[in-house]
Amino acid sequence: MSTTPAPHPIVFDTPPCAAIACTGVAKRYGDVEAVRGVDLELHRGEIVALLGPSGCGKTTMLRVIAGFEHADGGRVAIGGRIVADADAGTHVAPQARRVGMVFQDYALFPHLDVAANVGYALGRRPDRARVDEVLELVGLGGLGHRRPHELSGGQQQRVALARALAPSPAVVLLDEPFSNLDAALRAEVRGEVRRLLRAAGVSALLVTHDQDEALSLADRVAVMHDGRIEQVGTPEAVYASPATCWVAAFLGEVDVLRGEARDGAVETPLAVVPAPRDVSGPVDVLLRPESVNIEALGAPRDARDAMVVEREYYGHDQLVVLELDDGMRVRSRRPGYPAWHAGDKVKAWVDGPVTVLPHRPR
Ligand code: ATP
Repeated sequence: MSTTPAPHPIVFDTPPCAAIACTGVAKRYGDVEAVRGVDLELHRGEIVALLGPSGCGKTTMLRVIAGFEHADGGRVAIGGRIVADADAGTHVAPQARRVGMVFQDYALFPHLDVAANVGYALGRRPDRARVDEVLELVGLGGLGHRRPHELSGGQQQRVALARALAPSPAVVLLDEPFSNLDAALRAEVRGEVRRLLRAAGVSALLVTHDQDEALSLADRVAVMHDGRIEQVGTPEAVYASPATCWVAAFLGEVDVLRGEARDGAVETPLAVVPAPRDVSGPVDVLLRPESVNIEALGAPRDARDAMVVEREYYGHDQLVVLELDDGMRVRSRRPGYPAWHAGDKVKAWVDGPVTVLPHRPR
C-alpha cells in the first residue's frame, strides 16, 4: 500500500509553556532593594494582578518584564523564550519581547489621530486593516480620525489598549491603567477591559494598588509586599484564606483574635473554630467582619453574648462593633436593615470563612 506524502512537513506544537515565567527576579536601585527574588508565572490567556501598596516594587517588576530595566538577579521568560537572565547577561530589547504596554497616562501622541496612534505600534507602514480590526475590537470603529483630546477618558484608555494589542503580543502589561479615570467610570471601564482582554485571548499582567480592581478583574492575584510576593491565588483564596496577617489586612478589614490550637480546634472568646491539623500552640485567628453574624433572638446554641458598642451605617450595610464578655472587641458587617444601635444586647457567632495562622509577634 502506498502512502501519499503530506504536502507540508508536520509541525508539532511547542509544549504548553507559561506566558510569563519569572524566577528569582531581583532589582536594586543603590541601597533600595526594590524587588527581592520574585517568582511569578502567568498561564496562557490568564489575567493576573500584581497588587501591593505604593513602593512595594510592582512597577519595577513590570519594567523588568518589559525590558525597560535590567534585572540584577533571576530570569524572565516570555512564551517560553528567555528574554532576561542576569547570570548569563541576557537582555532582549523591549521591542523584541512581544509585549504590549498600557501606561498609567496612556502615553498617546496628542498630534496624531487615533488610527495613527494605534498604527504607530505596527511600524513605519502600518497595516490599515489591522488598525481597523483592533479599533473595532475595542469598540472604537469609525473613530480613527479623532485626536485623543476629542475622546473621553475611557475611550482614550481603549485606544491605549488597541495600540498594545495591535502587534498581537504574547502578553499585555498594564501599569495602573484605571487611575486616571474617576471612580464611577473606573468600575465600568474595568469590566470592559476584562472583556476585551478575553476577546483578544491575550495574557495580561496588571499592576495596581487597588484591592477592588485586583479582586474583580484578575483570574489570580499576586500580593506584593516590600519587594516580595507574599501570596498568589485566586481572588477568593487570597481574600478568604490569606497566607499572612499582612495579606489579610491589606485586602480588607480583619480582626485578629489570639488563641491556642489543640487537636484541630481553637477556643476563642467568640467561638471554637477549626484549625489546620498541622497547627498547634499559639495562633492568630483572622476574622473578616462579614464572617461574624449577630441576632437578638434565634441565634445558634453556641453563640456568645455580646453588646453593640458602636455602629457605622453605610446604607447598603453597617459595620457593628461588638464587645464580648471578656471585653474583647470584634466587628460584624451586616446588611443595612435591621438597624443595630449601641447598647443592643445580642448573640454573636462565626458564620463564614476563618483563617488560623501560627502566631507571629508583630
Ligand atoms: P507605586 O504604586 O507608588 O508606583 P510601586 O509598588 O510600583 O509603587 P516601585 O515604583 O517599583 O514601587 O518602587 C519600588 C522602590 O524602588 C521604591 O522604594 C522606589 O522609591 C524605588 N525606586 C523605583 N524606581 C527608582 C529609580 N529609578 N531610582 C531609585 N529608586 C527607585
